[in-house]
Amino acid sequence: MERFREVRGTKDLRPGEIERWHYLEKIVRTVMDRYGYLEIRTPMFESTELFSRSIGSDTDIVQKEMYTFPDRKGRSLTLRPEGTASVARSYLQHNMGRGKAVTKLYYMGPMFRYERPQKGRFRQFHQFGTEAIGSPAAWYDTETISVFYEILDAAGLGPLTVRLGSVGDPGCRPAYTSLLKEYLRARSDELCGNCKERMEKNPLRVLDCKNRSCGGAIESAPSLLDHLCEPCTAHLGEVRSTLEKGGIPFELDRSLVRGLDYYSRTVFEIHHDELGAQSALGGGGRYDGLLEDLGGPPTPGVGFSAGMERIITVAESLEIEWDGGDEPMIYVAPVEETAAGDVFPLVRRLRRRWKTEGVREVRNLKTVLKRASRAGAGIVLLLGAGGALTVKRMDTGDETGVSVDHLEEEVEDLRKAIAARRSEERDS
Ligand SMILES: [Zn+2]
Ligand SMILES: [Zn+2]
Repeated sequence: MERFREVRGTKDLRPGEIERWHYLEKIVRTVMDRYGYLEIRTPMFESTELFSRSIGSDTDIVQKEMYTFPDRKGRSLTLRPEGTASVARSYLQHNMGRGKAVTKLYYMGPMFRYERPQKGRFRQFHQFGTEAIGSPAAWYDTETISVFYEILDAAGLGPLTVRLGSVGDPGCRPAYTSLLKEYLRARSDELCGNCKERMEKNPLRVLDCKNRSCGGAIESAPSLLDHLCEPCTAHLGEVRSTLEKGGIPFELDRSLVRGLDYYSRTVFEIHHDELGAQSALGGGGRYDGLLEDLGGPPTPGVGFSAGMERIITVAESLEIEWDGGDEPMIYVAPVEETAAGDVFPLVRRLRRRWKTEGVREVRNLKTVLKRASRAGAGIVLLLGAGGALTVKRMDTGDETGVSVDHLEEEVEDLRKAIAARRSEERDS
């Protein structure tokens, strides 16, 4: 019979790699907490209209990449392709902004897009991100950039540069859009098929095209940065000066637009300085019109999102050491048949404090040590007749007898000694 396999574009995260996920997740949670963002977990599917209305019905995501299906009652549902729409929906539904100037939320979890699977790109992938909803102030744009920067930095992913741009607002974007359309029409024979279509419906998205043939036209296209209205210019200026004062390295990107329609004013990406063309680790921006588009009152917001597969792949390719804090495991084995019955109570006692494994079968010492080593043990406890206990350090091979009353103290001392030796080895 043919065996089942992962569905194309999905991936099991197994022991051996899940540790890196735990490590990244822990950094995300720690930094989010310091910045005062609270976690929200929204459902993995929503009504299809939520996404078509928020992301934009002529974006690639909505046009070709969503997992959309009717449920048994014929309602159209979609597996979430990104996080912001769901968070905005939840914010409005639960009136989360009541009595607060700004609501700061973060999320982390799987998203789904029907894309061509490639290295580091999956159809079920994982993102984390923030949404700060309720304030138009540039402070929150800067804070959004800062919290993302801090997470990447804490994960050892430097040197980093923020690429900053602005997509204007309804006050200045329309005039620029028609200017851009005019420019693109004049150079339309250089554009790829996709862009010829986009040019009419959504010319800004042409600037996001990665197709090489479009590169020339994009490079000399007029920049929205030169056509911002006064309030948009002032807003961008404030983001810039705050970043400067905060010591976050950034550069202005004159053609930066993001793949979603809901952005206004600030857009940004954070790039690793040594990765070449594919150096973006994530990005985001402001979406002052989004909540209104979803039927809410006018409510500004700003956020970012980042792909976890991407960050983990980059960390691996840069050979960044992610110390998952692997603690020395304790392995308990009997050396006499009469001691076999004592293994379980002892293992249970040790597991109240430490990671411990035990076996009931009596084997010769060589076999015990081989199995302990394969299990990743740092400390082996050998149980003899009449409650005799021997503790063995795997790294040095030292062993001593210990009384069961002082077992925890002895183990604690050994763990400290092993950790000290490991950190010495790392430093040398
Ligand atoms: Zn193109
Ligand atoms: Zn403007």
